Amino acid sequence: MGSMAERAQVTVTGVVQGVGFRPYVYALAARLGLKGFVTNTAEGVLIDLEGDGLSEFLRCLRINAPPLARIADIAVAHQPIRGYTEFSIIKSVDVAGAFTLVSPDVSLCADCRSELLDHRDRRYRYPFINCTNCGPRYSITKAVPYDRPNTTMATFAMCPACSAEYHDPSSRRFHAQPNACPACGPQVEFRTRDAGSGVKGSAALGDCVRMLREGGIVAVKGLGGFHIACDAGNDASVRRLRERKRKSNKPFAVMAPDADAIRRFCELGRDELHELESIRRPIVLLRKRADVRPGEALSEAVSPNNRSIGCMLPYTPLHELLFLPPGEGPGPTLPNFSALVMTSGNLSEEPIVHTNADALDRLSHLVDAYLLHDRDIFMRVDDSVVRVTSDERQETGGIQESRGTANSSLAAHPSSLMVLRRSRGYAPDAIALQDDGPEVLGCGADLKNTFTLTKGSFAIPSQHIGDMENFETLRFYEEVLQNLRSVYRVDPVAIVHDLHPGYLSTRWALEHGARIIGQGSEQDVPLYAIQHHYAHIGSVMAEHGLAGPVIGVACDGTGYGTDGNLWGGEFLVAGIDGFDRVGQFKYVPLPGGEAAIREPWRAAVGYVLDAAGEAAQGILERAGFVERYGRGAISQVLQVAGSRELSPLASGAGRLFDAVSALMGVCGLNTFEGEAAMALEALVEEGIGGEYPIEMRTENDYTVLDFSPAILAIADDLQQGCKKGLMATKFHTTVASAIARTAVQISERTGIRDVALSGGSFQNRYLLRQAGALLAAAGLQVHTNEKMPPNDACISLGQAYLIRERLKRENGRNP
Ligand SMILES: [Zn+2]
Ligand SMILES: [Zn+2]
Repeated sequence: MGSMAERAQVTVTGVVQGVGFRPYVYALAARLGLKGFVTNTAEGVLIDLEGDGLSEFLRCLRINAPPLARIADIAVAHQPIRGYTEFSIIKSVDVAGAFTLVSPDVSLCADCRSELLDHRDRRYRYPFINCTNCGPRYSITKAVPYDRPNTTMATFAMCPACSAEYHDPSSRRFHAQPNACPACGPQVEFRTRDAGSGVKGSAALGDCVRMLREGGIVAVKGLGGFHIACDAGNDASVRRLRERKRKSNKPFAVMAPDADAIRRFCELGRDELHELESIRRPIVLLRKRADVRPGEALSEAVSPNNRSIGCMLPYTPLHELLFLPPGEGPGPTLPNFSALVMTSGNLSEEPIVHTNADALDRLSHLVDAYLLHDRDIFMRVDDSVVRVTSDERQETGGIQESRGTANSSLAAHPSSLMVLRRSRGYAPDAIALQDDGPEVLGCGADLKNTFTLTKGSFAIPSQHIGDMENFETLRFYEEVLQNLRSVYRVDPVAIVHDLHPGYLSTRWALEHGARIIGQGSEQDVPLYAIQHHYAHIGSVMAEHGLAGPVIGVACDGTGYGTDGNLWGGEFLVAGIDGFDRVGQFKYVPLPGGEAAIREPWRAAVGYVLDAAGEAAQGILERAGFVERYGRGAISQVLQVAGSRELSPLASGAGRLFDAVSALMGVCGLNTFEGEAAMALEALVEEGIGGEYPIEMRTENDYTVLDFSPAILAIADDLQQGCKKGLMATKFHTTVASAIARTAVQISERTGIRDVALSGGSFQNRYLLRQAGALLAAAGLQVHTNEKMPPNDACISLGQAYLIRERLKRENGRNP
């Protein structure tokens, strides 16, 4: 074509390291006859090239990029010709202040999986096989650039065969930093609880499988931490694990060898299958099959009194091997297990255990044996949890849900995926913001804590940290913060915390935050407090690039309000500069505060007293409360409910769901967070119409939603012997409709058309779908959390975003 030789420096940013990007560039340059070099920098990938195929190179670069690469930007700077004679891949260079995005951990790829099962391959049944398209990333990365010496693989010297692959640009393992084989890489070790040392190598896996098949409980070191595993089909084992681990009904996650195995006990829709098999390999919450008797396929103790099971597929070669029967290859033999319980290896409410020493020390009372290995986990990351909110079930054959009004909302609610816990496979992915801005730390809230850092045009949420209620969790928080600040090179100019003075995250920010962040600098880092539900709405604004004003509907359990009461069913008009509270669920006394959160029957007493006054005692008696909780306890709680000191006022939607669940006799005790509300949601039946009455009072542009009439009507229905499914469905519709009517009214008054829905109650997919559909039908734009969970895990993103945007405005005003 006769084009002229030219030279350019091309800077590619995004997730471009550890994903096979340089060999890809090398191959593309070679094909086009271009000379120069490619290198990893702290900022991304730098390509310096010259020749006459430059424009073709730039045209192809993005289109054919490797599967795991996510290109954020390609910047091209033309340069004078230098006369390169070859194209080479050169050692990484570091640029001060620059940063690149770290890749999350990636599940085993199809190529590595077939090598794993191929008895002629030198990595046959090797539990640490990986390549540039798969394997550990974030969990082993100690520093950037992402090179082997900066990972926990630094201690393993590659054998000649591995080294040859590592240096061969045509190999799938070219610069695969965790590259290893049985000769040179990490090894597993199986050890029973009382043994000082154990069996290594393939015999270790055999012993582990044998113990699991015999009903043993084994701590298995995985990718981001330890799991506690047992045979999910062995009722005695699962019950033993439940007794040892905790007394609650909190469901255990299970891992099954493939989708067909999961179909034996759960319904599996197309979107759900897609998530299960995605490279992130999260736990997907699936509905138990109605036509399988409880306990038939899996122990009922896996997920007691629950219509769902959290399922995942193997995501590391080690997991694959746990299911792979002995013998040559994948043959026709059955997997070792139809499913394994794989629950987080931790003490209750503490972070996941990730070192061999900690496992041996802290998990010894829970397990009979350990499957350890010697590749260190640097950053612990729990399994992520997602749920598909739509109900496409064409793949399950015969299980077709009715297409009632709720399903029409699918069009209005574009994302059918809800993230409930964002950790392995997701973290530390950045969330793109609209433009550049200052660096801010959002400290998060106390339940399901995450923190968020902003840097450049990104927000970087941490992985799931946990409930901030003990020293171990706080230590984990600081560990992750130090790591993410260092790899992303963040120096926050502001720290944002929740308004709640009692939160551990708030106290940390006040006592340590400024000091830890400001190390070495003279100035204190300014602190900002952001109200909990405003932060919820801020997180949705961040995800969708909204500056506001928006109508924010925040529904969750309890959060500290500006008036000192416990908020949780709130209508806000929110922008960057602040918010107005323009409506709420009616305040109802929460007898005993915290006690009523753990024991929803107490909340029910509060709601019934509020609705019925003197008649409350009789209603509670007829609802069976005396038999269940005792006459003495009831009258005591009724008394406590009358005392403002002992019974704070709460407007939490979560408390209302709790109260109705307890009133209906569905669940009166939360053995884990959200249990009562989830049990109520599980009763909802598609296609049932009707609503309960409520009172909606608007005065001076302020709306109060009073659900007392609904409480009384439910008590009546209970007397009439109404079906629980009918009552639960009508109640859900009542709340969704009340939310929508209020938001529409606010929109008519203010002219605002954007509505943001957030808060833990919107994890309830029926509520979210119904409210979303009604709002969309009224012509409003509905925005929800799509990348972050709607529960308190999103608080840190909202905090960081709101203050970052506010600082940007202030800087704009005073340049
Ligand atoms: Zn691979
Ligand atoms: Zn090797």
